Amino acid sequence: MSIPFIDLKTQYRRVAAEVERGIQSVLMSGAYINGPEVARLEERLAGYCGTRYAVGCASGTDALMMALMALGVGPGDAVFCPPFTFMATAEVVALLGATPVFVDVDPVTYNIDPVRLDLAVRAVRAGDPSLHPLPQHAGTLTPKAVIPVDLFGLLADYAALLPVAAAHGLFVIEDAAQAFGATQEFSGAKRRACSYGQIGCTSFFPAKPLGCYGDGGMCFTDDPDLLELLRSVRVHGQGADKYQNVRLGITGRLDTMQAAVLLAKAEIFDDEVRLRQDVARRYAELLGALPGLTLPVVPQGNVSVYAQYSIQAESTAHRQELLDRLTKASVPSSIYYPVPLHLQPAFANLGYQPGSMPASEAVAARIFSIPMHPYLTAEAQQEIAKALAG
Ligand SMILES: *Cc1c(COP(=O)(O)O)cnc(C)c1O
Repeated sequence: MSIPFIDLKTQYRRVAAEVERGIQSVLMSGAYINGPEVARLEERLAGYCGTRYAVGCASGTDALMMALMALGVGPGDAVFCPPFTFMATAEVVALLGATPVFVDVDPVTYNIDPVRLDLAVRAVRAGDPSLHPLPQHAGTLTPKAVIPVDLFGLLADYAALLPVAAAHGLFVIEDAAQAFGATQEFSGAKRRACSYGQIGCTSFFPAKPLGCYGDGGMCFTDDPDLLELLRSVRVHGQGADKYQNVRLGITGRLDTMQAAVLLAKAEIFDDEVRLRQDVARRYAELLGALPGLTLPVVPQGNVSVYAQYSIQAESTAHRQELLDRLTKASVPSSIYYPVPLHLQPAFANLGYQPGSMPASEAVAARIFSIPMHPYLTAEAQQEIAKALAG
């Protein structure tokens, strides 16, 4: 028996009838673009996340791009983001001519460090890289926004982050591409991913916690003005009608077909989040006693959706040893992320050097991910644990 890294086929068997009914209905309707399923999904998921509005779009990357465009981010603006994340988080910033300013992560949660965020904003304001490592020419930038990432399914520390952002007048764009469905106790109440900040963004890429069968994404907001702006930039900056263009935009629509898929999958999503907790609990029992492994830490008050189950080895060599054992036992594994963004060739022009983001660099050198999905059986997990134990 081979263990899949993420088992989308088992999930499909569970939702097949509903998905096929939904797709059939879109096929028959002819409303392939902006069909009623899109608005239904927006309403449903806004309700789920506890925001007033949602705007479906073509991918998680487009969701981030549309958020930045709606907030008017452009050349001369500094946008703070963690370097230990997927490329898209900082890529969209640079694509719009703004400058990503990297802020190192907390070494335990892997999410952006609120104390360092404060330092980084002060450093940009003062044009002083001795306060915090900065990209080249950062002294001319205006601090504009922060993009906290909810990495591996765990929400960033919003109780600490939001006051820092507010004190510096930064917009908050939540990158919840990996955390749809995650919750955190915030001001005494449970609040879901995508509801923090002015705009929350998620992805429905098939491997994400709530995935469709292609590309898809969504923006969430409570602000009616931002809702209008997001809808406008989604379709070429349209104004009162389709052929009035009041700003630049993109082709960022969510396909009706994918909305139908997501409506079907939304029905089982809460159950899947629960199953993910069971899988994580079993991993903790099986792997907790193995020497040299640092398992995911979920701080009090949080529910992670474990987009990845990521473990730190003691060293790069120890990681290689573990990965080789997994390969020998035919257990798939992956490294998210081997190179932090400040050291990626695409961002070489920012002039960051190795050593400037020590926590991200240390994590990137030791982290690896093992199979994680709601349908992972206890037997498969025992096999994985046996392989890791060597
Ligand atoms: C997947 C992902 C994205 C981008 O989502 P796509 O739908 O693939 O464009 C952005 N940020 C993070 C953290 C992601 O994991």
